[in-house]
Amino acid sequence: MTNTDTTGARPAREREQVVIIGTGFSGLGMAIALKRAGMHDFVILEKADEVGGTWRENTYPGCACDIMSLLYSYSFEPKADWSRMFPRQEELLDYIKGVVDKYGLRRHIRFNVEVTGTEYDDATDSWQIATATGEMIGARVLVSAMGPLHRPSIPDLPGMETFAGRTFHSAEWDHDYDLTGKRVAVIGTGASAIQFVPRIAERVASLTLFQRTPPWIIPKPDRRVTEVEKNLFRNVPGVQRAYRNGIYLMQESFVLGFKNPRLLKAASGLAQWHLHRQVKDPALRRKLTPDYTMGCKRTLVSSDYYPALTRPNVDLVTDGVKEIRENSIVRGDGTEIEVDAIIFGTGFHVTDAFENAHIVGRHGVKIQDAWKDGIQAHLGVSVAGFPNLFLLLGPNSGLGHNSMIFIIEAQVRYVMQCLRLLAAGDATRISVRPTVQDRFNAWVQRKSEGAVWVAGGCTSWYLDRNGKNRAAWPASTVNYWLRTRRLRRSDFELATVRDPVGADL
Ligand code: NAP
Repeated sequence: MTNTDTTGARPAREREQVVIIGTGFSGLGMAIALKRAGMHDFVILEKADEVGGTWRENTYPGCACDIMSLLYSYSFEPKADWSRMFPRQEELLDYIKGVVDKYGLRRHIRFNVEVTGTEYDDATDSWQIATATGEMIGARVLVSAMGPLHRPSIPDLPGMETFAGRTFHSAEWDHDYDLTGKRVAVIGTGASAIQFVPRIAERVASLTLFQRTPPWIIPKPDRRVTEVEKNLFRNVPGVQRAYRNGIYLMQESFVLGFKNPRLLKAASGLAQWHLHRQVKDPALRRKLTPDYTMGCKRTLVSSDYYPALTRPNVDLVTDGVKEIRENSIVRGDGTEIEVDAIIFGTGFHVTDAFENAHIVGRHGVKIQDAWKDGIQAHLGVSVAGFPNLFLLLGPNSGLGHNSMIFIIEAQVRYVMQCLRLLAAGDATRISVRPTVQDRFNAWVQRKSEGAVWVAGGCTSWYLDRNGKNRAAWPASTVNYWLRTRRLRRSDFELATVRDPVGADL
């Protein structure tokens, strides 16, 4: 969402019961739940011309998920024939498109509609949603399913504007630019970079990789799923579910270490062994050894990243970027390196993603004012003062250790309960009580203190500029499931405007 406000847009002519923004896993999961509940009066707005969210946007070479296929899929839409243990972007996008077709969601989607601002109208208890084309859409309920990792963050490096070569971000990969034989600089060594670096290293003339903080990396046990396994998944009841549950429990075991890093010893031992096995040069190994607690940043999974760094055409630079010139990058130590292209694997705006968003709640309160002390929402979903608005994958509902689809499904179930409450009470407005949100966020911050993201000796996109955890869920996913399984009626205020238009949820 950009910072255009809704003034000047054409007034809403139609009103939907529910408008969902985004067609990634969360927006589509919400749409399916509505359909299954017989609520067909909804529209999904999508800024692009295809579905898929992060798996449509990220097309960089090597793009894949580091959670296993059998877990990184909807629980209610198992796929028995995943080709690999870890799904690649193309296969995930195919899966998503298959789900969209199966549930007949395309007719609910309006493609190429970018939302530029949303305002709550107290008089009618509805959201007014402005789009880039100047249209205004009204909705009783607004579900923001835009994903926390979709606004590329590109650092403002000195001299950037003078660079004459090609530059792009990993999430906006320039497939028209042939990297073969080029001198390339990559900035960043996060989850995205470690996937594309091995792919491009073999094609480019030289690759200079600027690392600020070395990530912890464990091996990726990826392989093709065998025909025997696929047959078992297809034909023997319960096998695929048991496999999925097994992966879930294995992933979930990492959470114990977030509060007690000593328990992560086995995993950090595995990561150290992995580094020693794949990198023989002690100087390179030293540069790649993290000096903070594992889990503080997202632990990465790769078996081809370290070998790529041992190639003769790859240089790992750890003294930073001093300056960018017309055809070169000057390293921290003053060495000038000629490059044709710079690729940013520098991540996304997360805790600051809403700084320019135009979201106005009751009584004209802007989201920036509501969140002046930091982004927060009850269970990552509901924001006090912003009735009938539901965030999917909102503040503090991110995971560093397990599948986000688990959280998405829990949140969708929670939102459905809110909608049922609205309908049952014949109400037009549902709003989380401020005290409930405050209590929940005090708990989040208490749980985060001393946990690995805050006390692990690193910075990450989980933390805001004051060092507070605003992105990561600070407990187990079971805890999240329990908290969202049954909505507490007393957590919400319901109200009805006198002459509601279309209050028939
Ligand atoms: P990221 O994990 O935030 O990594 C960004 C990288 O850029 C870090 O190495 C960071 O260094 C570096 N960086 C940022 N600003 C810099 C600057 N000014 N100068 C030098 N280096 C700079 O971003 P990402 O790799 O795009 O991944 C983002 C998230 O997307 C992940 O955490 C994950 O949740 C998700 N993701 C998931 C998968 C998957 O397989 N499931 C794959 C890709 C992405 P510092 O560490 O020093 O900050």
